[in-house]
Order: sequence, then structure tokens, then C-alpha cells
Amino acid sequence: MKSEAAYNDLLKRSREVSLISSTTSLLGWDQETYMPEAGVDYRAEQMGYFAGLRHRIWTAPEVGDWIKSCEDAGLLNDAERGPNVRELRRDYDRAVKTPPDLVEELARVTTMAQQSWQEARKESKFGKFAPLLDKIIELTRRQADCWGWKESRYDALLDYYEPGATSTETAKLLGDLAGKLSALIPIFQKKFEKVPANRLKGNYAKAEQQAFNREVATAFGFDFAAGRIDASTHPFCSGVGPKDCRMTTRYDETDFTDSFFSVLHECGHGLYDQGLNTDHFGTPLGEAVSLGIHETQSRLWENQVGRSRAFWKHWLPLAGKHFPGLQKIGGDEFWLAINRVEPSFIRVDADEATYNLHIVLRFEMEKKLIEGELKTADLPAAWNARFEELFGLKVPDDARGCLQDIHWSGGGFGYFPTYTLGNLNAAQLYRAALKQNAGLQGELDRGAYGSLRQWLKTNVHQHGRRYLPRELMQKATGEPTRADYFIDYLKAKFDF
Ligand SMILES: [Zn+2]
Repeated sequence: MKSEAAYNDLLKRSREVSLISSTTSLLGWDQETYMPEAGVDYRAEQMGYFAGLRHRIWTAPEVGDWIKSCEDAGLLNDAERGPNVRELRRDYDRAVKTPPDLVEELARVTTMAQQSWQEARKESKFGKFAPLLDKIIELTRRQADCWGWKESRYDALLDYYEPGATSTETAKLLGDLAGKLSALIPIFQKKFEKVPANRLKGNYAKAEQQAFNREVATAFGFDFAAGRIDASTHPFCSGVGPKDCRMTTRYDETDFTDSFFSVLHECGHGLYDQGLNTDHFGTPLGEAVSLGIHETQSRLWENQVGRSRAFWKHWLPLAGKHFPGLQKIGGDEFWLAINRVEPSFIRVDADEATYNLHIVLRFEMEKKLIEGELKTADLPAAWNARFEELFGLKVPDDARGCLQDIHWSGGGFGYFPTYTLGNLNAAQLYRAALKQNAGLQGELDRGAYGSLRQWLKTNVHQHGRRYLPRELMQKATGEPTRADYFIDYLKAKFDF
């Protein structure tokens, strides 16, 4: 049958594209971990070459013909092949709808902008970065128009990172969350007033940190025969290919929690990658569904599990074997030190509760910038005013204000909301897992994580891109995403 051949050709091409993508992700991993500094120019050439090759073979006219043949033959209704055809159509349309000159110009401008942003941040002068940011916004708006949108230009960008998400629905969810958080944070904060900020500062040898990180990642179920942990400036996790998952962390010998919680976070991403169906590698059914759902996995292991009292009841004595200084610290004191709630200026240093207000602020600003409601030059004033409303603090300078994040300099508009969607959905998934497994809490108390990992594998990992994120949440938890479960989780956690 013609459609049978078209489907096979389409999947073969999809797998070829994945061979290229996984090769570039390995090159990217190497660049962040082991590559000598002087290798950077040739690496950029390698990456550029592969990006071009990938684009070329994926946007070739025959790919569109294969997809159309599959659609005409009704394959979209097929349980196995339907999701692959639907998702490859999504990827193909986006790729062919972006004109090559726009791709090139965005690449050129964002490369310059990242340098300009670094300098502007160092000097805390928004004016230095503003002209390039303005250019990026203009190009990003053009890109959104090429991709197409109905209600808001911002929808086209958001949907790129979180398929199916819309700005109206996201604004409602985040608005609801912001209102509830603003009322709760002062109450939580009060409870931490007597906890010294640097209670855990001490001596933590790197080798001991590595050993402890590995012990916990192994307990979570990370397969070290199919993965590694290395060091990089910014921690990340890269699923290079089936049975090859690379995560990274960084080490501070005065504070083990930096590397430790980074490992828990990246390990959550890694377990998702290791839980994907390897038979489907290189096709949508073997790929993670979205950034937001990926982030549910990292946050769940890092926060719901890793910052809980039960977790440390089990692990603190074991941590004390690696770090004798911890033996003097009581369980309560330790738990308070790693959960301190306190409004602050920098997103990446924020605690679990205030973190999401940082995202609300960025979402509001970037949506207005893209929709043309806010001029680039007016960003610092708008940012600072809204920051004070949300956090009750006056932003002292642009470096601690609208210049702190790298995302916009790289053209990443629409990315920020996925962090909070991750937090909300993590709380909702964790609640569902506990509800559906009566014995689960008992296992977690004993430091046994197999059932939780298996639940996540069954309900999230193994589906790949079969369902859109919203359908996945509905299936796994019986409800669409809500802010309430995250709020309930915080209330229960900080009820002491
Ligand atoms: Zn993450």
C-alpha cells in the first residue's frame, strides 16, 4: 500500500533526524564538560553544519508528501501510527514555515545578543542590551507570524515549548496562583525568621559529594550503566540516545546542597529520558512530550521527594557519614535550612514558594513585549513596579532585575511558563501517585523509590508524545492542571 510505504519512509527520515540531533547533543554536552577552550570555533562550525543538514533533510518536499499520504489514508486514527503522524506534521509545519533568512538572522542576532547581555548585566545597564533585545523581539514576532496564531502572537511561541498551551489559559492559571501565593508567602516567611541563613555552611569534600550524590541517584533508580554525572558551570541533563543519558552538576566545597539538589533535579530529567520507550527512539512516541512535563519530573524528585521530612529522616544519617559536620545538626534544623522561604531578587536562587512569582512576572512581561503592549525601553520600569507588587521589595538595579536571565537574549520567549507548569503539574502528579498507591508513603519513608518511579514511567514516560501535555495530565490525574494542588502541598508542608 502507498500509505504503508510513505509511513515507513517518514519514520526512517525521522530516525535519521534523531541521529543528527543526538550527535549534536553529544557535541553540546562535550562543549560544556570536557572540550578544551580553544576548540570552540571549530565546534561552532560542527554544530552549524549539523543544524543545517538536519533542517535540509527534514524540510525536503518528499517529507511533506509522505505526511500527506499518511493523513489521506486515515493513519491519524491509528492507535500506534496516529500520534507519530500528528506530531511529525507539527514538527514539519514549524520547520517549513520558518524562512531560512529568518533562521539565519535570528541565529546571528542572538549570538551577538548573548555577548551584549553578559556585558550589560555585568555593568547593570539595560540600555546597553536594549537595542539587540528590541531586534530579537521584532524577529520573534515575525517568527510567530510565520508559525501562525489565532488569539495572541504569544500563543505561537508558548505552543512551541508546551504543545497545546494557550496564553489565555496560562494567564488564568498563573494569575490564580499569584493571588494565592502572595497571601501565603508572608505567613510562610515568618516561620523561618529564627533560622540562620547560612546554617549549613561547612566543609564538604568534592569526592564525598560525588559519592553521596551517586548513592541517592542510584536509590532513585538512575541507571549508571546507561548514564553519567559530570561537572559543568550550569547543571543540565541531556538524553543523548537510548541507554545514554548525561547529567551534570557543579561543586561548592563549602555547601554540598548546591550540587546535591542539582543532581536530584537533573536525575528527575534523567529518569524521564531513561523511562522513554527505546523501541520508539527517533520517533515522537519515543520522545519527551514537552518542557513543562519534563520539568514535572525534575521538580518532583527534587522538591516533593528530596525536600521532604521523610526523605531526610532516612538520608541525613547517611549524609553524616560523608560529611561529619552534619552529625551535629538535628533533623528539624536541617529541614528548615533547606526549605527556607524568603522573597529575593534572583530567580535561580529562589525557594519553592517564591520561585513561581518570578515566573509570573516574566510571563506577564514577555507576553506584553510580544503582543506590543510594552515597549522594550519601558521594560525595566514595568519590571520593577510589578516586582514590588508581587514581592514587596524594591529592585536595586537591572542586574538584579530584568537583566538576570539568559533566556530572552537567546530568543527564548514562551519558555518561562514551562517552569511553573512543571511545578504545578509535579504537585498534581505526586498527589495522584500517593492517592493511587496506598503503600507508597511507607516505601518513601524507607528510602525505597521503585514504586514511585514505576508509576511515573507508566503514567508519563512510556507515552512519549502520544498525548498532548493537557491530555497526559488528565489521564494521569483525572483532572486538567490546577494551581490548587501545588498550593495545598505548600500549605501542608509549611504548616508547623
Ligand atoms: Zn529542569
